[in-house]
Amino acid sequence: MPALGLGVFQTPPDETRDAVTAALDAGYRHIDTAAAYGNEREVGEAIAASDVHRADVFIETKVWINDFGYAETLHAFEKSAGKLGVDQLDLLILHQALPGDFERTLEAYRALETLLADGKVRAIGVSNFMVEHLTALLDRATVVPALNQLEIHPYFQQNAAADFGAERGILPQAWSPIGGITFYRDSGHVNALEDPTIGAVAEKHGKSPAQVMLRWGLQHGRSVIPKSTKPHRIAENLDVFDFELSAEDLAALDGLETGKRGGPEPDAVTLETFSREIPEA
Ligand code: NDP
Repeated sequence: MPALGLGVFQTPPDETRDAVTAALDAGYRHIDTAAAYGNEREVGEAIAASDVHRADVFIETKVWINDFGYAETLHAFEKSAGKLGVDQLDLLILHQALPGDFERTLEAYRALETLLADGKVRAIGVSNFMVEHLTALLDRATVVPALNQLEIHPYFQQNAAADFGAERGILPQAWSPIGGITFYRDSGHVNALEDPTIGAVAEKHGKSPAQVMLRWGLQHGRSVIPKSTKPHRIAENLDVFDFELSAEDLAALDGLETGKRGGPEPDAVTLETFSREIPEA
């Protein structure tokens, strides 16, 4: 899996094809979507229409909580693969745990294990799993999740969940890696892109604040999946392999932790509060 991919959360379906096309043209070979984003079909169309061979693009998508359960999650694969227009997914992950119904979460994961054994998916994983969720999962799972996609940016780093996973071979993958969640929701944060510490590091390297945050994530051994619909930003976000942050730079960003989550509390996610029916392919 390429460590850096394009995210498409909140990318409207009618802009998704152009965003994914711009990303493939810029050199991206990894796209992160989700059944709940409502744009899997457009992601698949952009990949199919591009000159890049399907086998060279890593497609990651997520099963929404309404589709948790063994039979339901097997069917969720059919819905996602159908919309994406592919026979096999590179990575299929559970979008959230359902802490109030963890048995159902485990049944969903068991379906992912079946899909992996059947060759329908090349890897399986989870998202927004805290230490207690990972512990409960590892207790029953036969396959260690390949990764755990978590809110990780300088203001909220989730070291406990990321390190617990990393020690067990579960790669941390950062969502909102440039702090998107800090400026499109009322999370009590200021915009991470306007942070003076990040700005100073960026200036020193002749790079942008977004590039510095992505480089910080990569140098900490994480995968990062920045979202943009703008071709110049899509290209900018991939242009992070020609500079290196010093230990001092990394420590400066590490020091920005606020302890304040931007996204939903994982334990507050229930079918009542976050229900969303996922249409058939
Ligand atoms: P990001 O940290 O990627 O930030 C995205 C925001 O930053 C957008 O508003 C974008 O605007 C803007 N932006 C992008 N590049 C730049 C740049 N170079 N300079 C200035 N602004 C920029 O946040 P996301 O929340 O979108 O997270 C990334 C991806 O992570 C999602 O798209 C999704 O794939 C995944 N995700 C997963 C979640 C989960 O629960 N598993 C939850 C949330 C996200 P514009 O488009 O106008 O450029």
